[in-house]
Amino acid sequence: MGLKAAAKMHTSTAQTVALREQILDYARTRMQLDPAPLDGPQTLKFLKANASNTITESGLGGTKALKVFDEVLAPACISTDHPGYLSFIPAAPTEAATLFDLVVSATSVYGGSWLEGSGAVFAENEVLSWLAAEVGLPKSAGGVFVQGGSLGNLSALVTARHQAIAARKATRRRMPKRWSIIASSESHSSLKAAARVMDVDILLASADDKGRLRGTAVAEAAAKIKDGLFAVVATAGTTNFGIVDRLDEVGKVAKGLGVWFHIDGAYGLAGILDAKVKPLFKGSALADSFIVDPHKWLFTPFDCCALVYRNPRLAAAAHTQHGEYLEVLETSGDYNPSDYAYNLTRRARGLPLWCSLATYGIAAYRAAIADNIALAHKVADVIRTREYLSLVREPELSIVVFERIGWQQRDYENWSNTLLADGIGFVVPSSHNGRPNARFAIVNPRTELKLLIQILDSMDDQK
Ligand SMILES: *Cc1c(COP(=O)(O)O)cnc(C)c1O
Repeated sequence: MGLKAAAKMHTSTAQTVALREQILDYARTRMQLDPAPLDGPQTLKFLKANASNTITESGLGGTKALKVFDEVLAPACISTDHPGYLSFIPAAPTEAATLFDLVVSATSVYGGSWLEGSGAVFAENEVLSWLAAEVGLPKSAGGVFVQGGSLGNLSALVTARHQAIAARKATRRRMPKRWSIIASSESHSSLKAAARVMDVDILLASADDKGRLRGTAVAEAAAKIKDGLFAVVATAGTTNFGIVDRLDEVGKVAKGLGVWFHIDGAYGLAGILDAKVKPLFKGSALADSFIVDPHKWLFTPFDCCALVYRNPRLAAAAHTQHGEYLEVLETSGDYNPSDYAYNLTRRARGLPLWCSLATYGIAAYRAAIADNIALAHKVADVIRTREYLSLVREPELSIVVFERIGWQQRDYENWSNTLLADGIGFVVPSSHNGRPNARFAIVNPRTELKLLIQILDSMDDQK
C-alpha cells in the first residue's frame, strides 16, 4: 500500500462518509428490532460460497462489506438477545448499554491506566464500588472489568496463590509440593481450566441434594489435602441450575482454614439485587474476591466481567507488569486497572454498564432481575401441571431445568433443531446425571410467559 492509500484510510472520503451513515443506520435499525430475527448457524460450505474473497489487496469497499455482513454473516449468527434465546446464558443489553458501547469505541479510550484513561477508570470504579457494596465488601474493595468470567476466576485465583506464596515466604515456611483449590462438583468448567493453566490441583467437593456446596463438604475435602490448599471457590448461581452455594458456611470454613474465599457469581450474583432472593446470598460479605458478568445478567453487551477484591493491593502485587516502557505508570501510585488481572491493554468495557445504570437507575435493575426470577417460578409452576413434563429441580434464580418424559437425547435434539429452524426459540438439550433435559435460562426482560408456554406446548405430542 502506498503512502497515499494509507493516508486515505484515515481521511474522510466520500466513501467513508457514506459508510458512516450506513453503519450508524444499520446499528440504529438493529437496535430497534423487537425482536431481532433469531437466525441460526450456517455451514462452512455455505459461508465459503457466499462470503469468500472479502479480504483482497484493493479492498471491497465498505458498502459491499456491510452488505456481506448484513445479508450473509449476520444471519449466520444467533441473536443472543432474542427473547426465545434461552440456552447457555443469553444476553439482553439495554439500549443505553449498547449505544454506549459504540461511544466507547468512538472515543478511543485506553482503559488500562489512570494516566491515559482517568475519567473512564473513575466511572468504571464507581460501578465496581457499587457492586462491592451490594455484595457487602468494604469501601476499600476494588478491581477491574475483564473480558469474561473465565479470565476473572483465573485472575482472582492467581492473586490468591500469590498471596499464599508471599505469606509462606514471610514466615519462612516451606512451599507445598502442589498447590490446590476446592470448588463444588457443580462449579463452572472455567475453574478446572484455571487450575490447568496455573498447574494447580482442583478438588471437587460434592454438592448436596439441592445442588449446593455446604461447609461440611468443604471441610471434608480440605481434610484430604495434606498441604498447599490456597483457595475455596463457592458458586453464587450455578450455570446449569442457578443454585447458590451456602456462601456463609463455605466462607466460614475457608476463613477457618486460613485460605482465600472466592465467589464465582458470573451468572447468578446479580440476583443479589432482588430483595426477595437476597437471603440466598448470605455470607457473600466474607469473600476475598468475587466475579459477576454484566454480559450475563446486568444487561450489557459482550464482553464484560466485574472482578472485585476485598483488598485490591494483593491483586496488584500479583498482576502488575513491569517493563521499562511501563515505569512511568508504576511509579505514579495511580489506580491502573491493568494491575488487577491478567491483562494489560484493555477496553473500558465497564462503561456501557456505567451508562446504563446512570440512565435507568439501580431500581430498574432490581425490578428487571426480580421479573426474570418471578418468570422462572411461573414457568416452573406451569411445568408442574403438565403430565408430560417433570421439573428436575426447584429454580432458585432464573434457570429452569425440566425433562420431557419418555424422550431420549435424539428427541430433544430434533425438537430443538425444529424450534430454532422455525425462529421460535433456541433451547439446546442439556443433561444432568447422564439424563437429557431441557433448560431455560431467563435473563431477558423481553422473554414472556406466553413464549415459554408456546415452547412447552411444542413438546406435547397431543398438540
Ligand atoms: C459463564 C460462567 C463462567 C464463565 O464466564 P465467561 O464470561 O463465559 O468466561 C464462570 N462461572 C460461571 C458460574 C458461569 O456461569
